Amino acid sequence: MKSNHYDLIVIGAGVLGTFHAYHAAVANKKILLLEKDQQPMQATVRNFGQVVPSGMSNDWFQFGVYATQLYKTIQADYNIGIRQNGSVYIASDDDEQQLLHELKQRMDARGYEAHILTTQQCLSRWPVLHPEYCREGLFFPQEVSAEPNVLIHYLLKYCTQRFSNLTYQNYTTIQACEVLNNQVKVVSSAGQSFTAHKVIICNGSEFKILFADIFEKSGIVISKLQMLRTQPMPALPLEGNILTGLTTRRYESFEECPSFSKIKTPAHLQELKNWGIHILFKKAMDGSVIVGDSHEYVEVGKEEPGYEINQHINNLMWQEAARIVDMKEWKLSAAWAGYYSQHPQKDIVEIDIENRIHIRTAIGGKGMTSSAGYAQKSVQQILRD
Ligand SMILES: Cc1cc2nc3c(=O)[nH]c(=O)nc-3n(C[C@H](O)[C@H](O)[C@H](O)COP(=O)(O)OP(=O)(O)OC[C@H]3O[C@@H](n4cnc5c(N)ncnc54)[C@H](O)[C@@H]3O)c2cc1C
Repeated sequence: MKSNHYDLIVIGAGVLGTFHAYHAAVANKKILLLEKDQQPMQATVRNFGQVVPSGMSNDWFQFGVYATQLYKTIQADYNIGIRQNGSVYIASDDDEQQLLHELKQRMDARGYEAHILTTQQCLSRWPVLHPEYCREGLFFPQEVSAEPNVLIHYLLKYCTQRFSNLTYQNYTTIQACEVLNNQVKVVSSAGQSFTAHKVIICNGSEFKILFADIFEKSGIVISKLQMLRTQPMPALPLEGNILTGLTTRRYESFEECPSFSKIKTPAHLQELKNWGIHILFKKAMDGSVIVGDSHEYVEVGKEEPGYEINQHINNLMWQEAARIVDMKEWKLSAAWAGYYSQHPQKDIVEIDIENRIHIRTAIGGKGMTSSAGYAQKSVQQILRD
C-alpha cells in the first residue's frame, strides 16, 4: 500500500511552490506537491515571463541571477521554453537616461554584464521602436524569457520525470493543515489525508482556504494587473524583454540609484502612474506580443480585487505603447487580469507555525525572476531547523 507520509508536503504548485519542491527533491527528501486546480492557473501562468534580475534589488538580484542560471541549466536538459534574448530598458528623456547610466555603473561594480546602446544601436536591433521615444537603451544580454502559459506545466513534468522522490498531485485543495503528534496532517476537500515532517504553503494570493485568520491580519495586499496580447506576428523584430521609461521610474534596482528620489513625474505620465501603468513588451514563441501592465491594490480580508477588465486602463496602456513602438499593424487578440500578493513592508511573507508549517507567500511581481533562487535558500533553512 502506498504510504501517505512524506518528509515534506508543499501546498501550491505555482512557480514558488514548484521550486521549493524542486530544491527539496535535490536534497533527496520524499516530497508531495499538491495543487488545487487541474493545472496551476494563477499568477504563474498569467504573467509576462520576463526573467529580469536587472530590475531587482539586494538579495533578490542574486536570487534572480541564480534562477536565470537554473532555468538555463534545466533548459539544456529538457525543453521548458526558456529563451536567452536579453532584456533592454529604453529611456525616453533626460531623467530616464540618467537612471540607465547609474544602474549601468552599479551593475559594472557587481560584474553583471550590461551595455549602453545608442538610439541607432537600439533601432537596428528593434526597428519597430520609435526613434523620437528611444533616446538610449541599457541591455542585459544574459537575461532570459519564459513562456508563462506553458513553463510551469513543462517544469512539473521535468520534476516528476527527474525525481522519483517527488510526487505531484493536482485537483487537491488542502482545506486543513495542523500539527499533530510531532508531524503535520493535511486534509483535502475530498477527504484525503497526508502527513509529513514539515509542510510549506505557497498559496500565492489564495487566502480564504487555509489560515484565513492569520492572513486577514497580515497586511498582505493583492495587486490586480491588466494585460493585453496581440495576434501573432512571427516576423516582428521585437525579441527579448523590452522594458521602457516608466519601468525605470518603478523597478527596485532603479530605486537604489542616487537620482531616483529627485526625479519628478512629467505631466503626460501622471495618469499612467496613477493606475500603476508601466509599459513592457514580451514577444511570445507564437509571435504574439504581450503588452502590459497596470496595478490596482486591495488589502486582504478588507476588499476583493474584482474580475472586470477596465477598458479605460487598456486604452491608456495601448496609447502609451503606441508612443514607444510602431503598432500600426498590431491587432489585439486577448485581454486578461492577473493577481499577485505582496506586502508593503516586506519582500516576501514568511510565517512559521510550531516550526513545522512554513508559509511562504506574497513574493510580489518578481516571482518568475527570483522564485528559483529564493526557494533554494528557503528550503535549506526549513530543512535545517
Ligand atoms: C500579470 C502579471 C505579470 C507578471 N509579470 C512577471 C514577470 O514578467 N516577471 C516576474 O518575475 N514576475 C512576474 N509576475 C509575478 C509572478 O507571476 C508571481 O510572483 C509568481 O507567479 C507567484 O507565484 P506563486 O507560486 O507564489 O503564486 P501562484 O502562481 O498564485 O500559485 C499559487 C498556487 O497555489 C495553489 N493553491 C493555493 N491554495 C491552495 C490550497 N489550499 N490547496 C492546494 N493548492 C493551493 C493555487 O491554485 C496556485 O496554483 C507577474 C504577475 C502577474 C499577475
